[in-house]
Amino acid sequence: MAVCFDCGREFPDGERYCPFCGSPAEVEIPSDRDLRDASPGYSAGGGGRRLIVLLFALILFLGLLLFIVYMERLISVKTAQISASIY
Ligand SMILES: [Zn+2]
Repeated sequence: MAVCFDCGREFPDGERYCPFCGSPAEVEIPSDRDLRDASPGYSAGGGGRRLIVLLFALILFLGLLLFIVYMERLISVKTAQISASIY
């Protein structure tokens, strides 16, 4: 049984409108907050996304560092080759 929120009378479930006063029956639509509470890890989704961004930044930083080291080595090799060709 459902209870009309308008007149307070009971009427069978499945009725879209109260048969007594005609007001729409309460339909349980889960709100955004309910959905957020229902799915675990959703509230932590922001944190997870932040972690991914942090990880991406770290990878980017390491890549840049490796690139710099590689370039320096390449330059030192080239200068070594140049100096070897001179002598
Ligand atoms: Zn009613």
